[in-house]
Amino acid sequence: MHSNDTALAEVQPQHWQTALQNAVKDPAELLALLQLPEELLPAAKLAAKQFPLRVPRGFVARMQSGDPHDPLLAQVLPLGAELIATPGFSTDPVGDTLAKADAGIIHKYNQRALLISTGACAVHCRYCFRRHFPYADEMAAKSSWQHSLQWLKQNPDINEVILSGGDPLSLTDAKLAPLMDGLAALPQIHTLRLHSRQPVVLPERVTEALIHTLKRSKKQIVLVIHSNHANELDQQVADALNLFHQAGIHLLNQAVLLKGVNDHAEALISLSRRLFSMQVMPYYLHLLDTVQGAAHFEVKLKKAKQIHKVMCANLPGYLVPRLVKETAGEPNKTLVT
Ligand code: SF4
Repeated sequence: MHSNDTALAEVQPQHWQTALQNAVKDPAELLALLQLPEELLPAAKLAAKQFPLRVPRGFVARMQSGDPHDPLLAQVLPLGAELIATPGFSTDPVGDTLAKADAGIIHKYNQRALLISTGACAVHCRYCFRRHFPYADEMAAKSSWQHSLQWLKQNPDINEVILSGGDPLSLTDAKLAPLMDGLAALPQIHTLRLHSRQPVVLPERVTEALIHTLKRSKKQIVLVIHSNHANELDQQVADALNLFHQAGIHLLNQAVLLKGVNDHAEALISLSRRLFSMQVMPYYLHLLDTVQGAAHFEVKLKKAKQIHKVMCANLPGYLVPRLVKETAGEPNKTLVT
């Protein structure tokens, strides 16, 4: 893309930006679209006051109309249960605050640094471990990345940069481009990793222009998508993922084990198989991060291990994601065995 084209793209919203803006944000509309009972509305409205509803229309279209237990709906519908304070659950379950190295930078693990690139997401997942995160103060993109690039220069042991958020692909190509150019000028960095749910919930975001922008970094690129259920992965998602694959971008998936969504082995086996058919390797299956408001999604450890055991017995090893837990202050994720 020429710089003039980039400037034009900034003033004229692209198809994906329109889809992002048109996301469903009103619980009453979501219930009406799916022909669900109005009795669900008062609690949904209350919970949405604390953490707003947001779900792209394309993702809603993959839900089963009339089914209040649809596994995709369960991930986005605000519930009264979110308002119950649960002992052992906190607002910062993975210790982001403790690991803050600088504004917008989290340094938890050796040789890797995570940039909180933006607070925006295309979808609001009700179980999100950063649902209470103070994004307004912590956005690496705020200073056109100069601050983050300077910090990386001063920390030459870092060789992998992880773009997280929020969702880094909420940023426009024009916003991402200076970071890519800045990384290209840092020989110490050999890998750029992006954690994004957008290829799944808003596949419109994946364009040739985006791929072109990411490739400006001249680094090995790893894209970790986030899908929890095979029903999320339709043909449009497959086409989007294929664009990354064709560009030589490594594709991994992380899922969260969620009660009422994917807490049985058959669902997760289907997910692994579907991911593989789309060139994505299952990477992590996370135990729920104990964030306030998400306790109703928790799958107990004993059941999680049973589910994983059945997966191991029915899938080739390369399609079994690692069952892990993130514990604040630990130097790596903990394997649950
Ligand atoms: S897309 Fe990721 S960061 Fe955004 S709400 Fe969902 S889990 Fe949280």
